[in-house]
Amino acid sequence: MTLNRRQFIGYLGAGAALSALPRLHLSAANPQVVVIGGGFGGATCAKYLRRYDNGVGITVIEPNTDYITCPGSNWVLGGLRTMDRITQRYAGFKTYDVKHIAARVERIDSALQSVDLDNGDTVKYDRLVVAPGIDFKWDSIEGYDAQAAEQIPHAYKAGPQTELLRKQLMDMPDGGTVILSVPGDPFRCPPGPYERASMIAYYLKSHKPKSKILILDAKEKFSKQGLFQAAWKELYPGMIDWVPGTQGGKVERIDVAKRTVFTQEGLTSHRGDVINLICPHHAGTLAQSAGLTDASGWCPIDQKSFESTLHPKVHVIGDACVAGAMPKSGHSANNQAKMCAAAIIALLREEEVPIPSHVNTCYSLLAPDYGISVAAVYHLKDGKIAAVEGSGGVSPADADAQFRKREALYAEGWYASITADSFN
Ligand SMILES: Cc1cc2nc3c(=O)[nH]c(=O)nc-3n(C[C@H](O)[C@H](O)[C@H](O)COP(=O)(O)OP(=O)(O)OC[C@H]3O[C@@H](n4cnc5c(N)ncnc54)[C@H](O)[C@@H]3O)c2cc1C
Repeated sequence: MTLNRRQFIGYLGAGAALSALPRLHLSAANPQVVVIGGGFGGATCAKYLRRYDNGVGITVIEPNTDYITCPGSNWVLGGLRTMDRITQRYAGFKTYDVKHIAARVERIDSALQSVDLDNGDTVKYDRLVVAPGIDFKWDSIEGYDAQAAEQIPHAYKAGPQTELLRKQLMDMPDGGTVILSVPGDPFRCPPGPYERASMIAYYLKSHKPKSKILILDAKEKFSKQGLFQAAWKELYPGMIDWVPGTQGGKVERIDVAKRTVFTQEGLTSHRGDVINLICPHHAGTLAQSAGLTDASGWCPIDQKSFESTLHPKVHVIGDACVAGAMPKSGHSANNQAKMCAAAIIALLREEEVPIPSHVNTCYSLLAPDYGISVAAVYHLKDGKIAAVEGSGGVSPADADAQFRKREALYAEGWYASITADSFN
């Protein structure tokens, strides 16, 4: 199935249409839903819980009072956006009568249905939504840990890490080498590292044109690969080299002081003037300590209701959960949040959980007027979230410059609409 733009927008609105659900009685008086994390998953879920029902108490526990989005953070590296323009202010919490507690959750007690906060408070829940995003597997690359990341940024959580990487790029001499190390699947935002390479190349082309980018990849192939590689040839000829895992792309060790990474059991080494090491990751640490993860490091869920298969009345959404074929993206987290909110309201009303459908789009900006995209529609098949056969696809390989320019505009439009939907 190929979607035309109108059908696609119809799918995008699927979550919003659920707000038309009739308001029925809730099984308990004033039930409390607590949401941990105010990212694309948590903030959207809180808003849509309210849109689906007025009688439920909704509390978001998130230590930050602003949210800096990873989407758009590569554009900051390219010099196309400021940090301020990727900072969201949680205006929606007030509009939708959502209580925000600026604290960190330290412990979940699913038997007592409560969470303990780092300010000493305990908050009770009838249903809990856990959306803590990702944390890094610090033991997966020898020599790399949270302290090393202060010198060798991952920049895979937007904020000070983005600023550090941008500063290092600006300080680098012309003719320097930028190394970008990419982990194996699954990881947050599959096209993210390659959009990043493009944005760094865009910056270098105009400021340090003799410089090179070396992508060391643990994988054999990557999202929108043909489109990225064709664009690199056209826009940044000779600047970007990509090395797959079997040809020495998997970084195993780093010597931070010497700014050198090692692959192929130490046989190959590369020195970088700037190294961006995107370390492998797992579900946010809280999900681990709460026993919500399995051996994979991610949270297994019932893919209809997003309820954990390990702890009842606890739902996990966003990057932390295993959502079938859906990639770990802000768009996925936003969609899952709406479906999860609908499921929770149905469960509180002792009704049938609605059958979910989802959509995901990932735009990548390769230059200010050069965008590409990938999209898919998902449904529940045999209890798992699967791509609808024939749905979605990637931008055409033979598109002209006008088409690429329009997709660059759509990328900005996507950012404006998804952040408005999630945070306002
Ligand atoms: C460079 C880059 C580019 C990207 N570009 C795109 C893109 O173009 N399109 C797209 O769809 N996706 C993109 N993504 C992916 C997107 O950012 C993530 O998939 C998305 O943020 C996941 O949302 P989430 O709610 O699961 O987690 P997050 O957004 O990470 O939110 C988790 C929140 O939980 C909070 N938290 C964690 N632990 C606790 C705790 N113990 N107590 C309380 N709060 C806690 C954190 O403070 C955080 O605010 C990109 C990612 C990167 C790195």
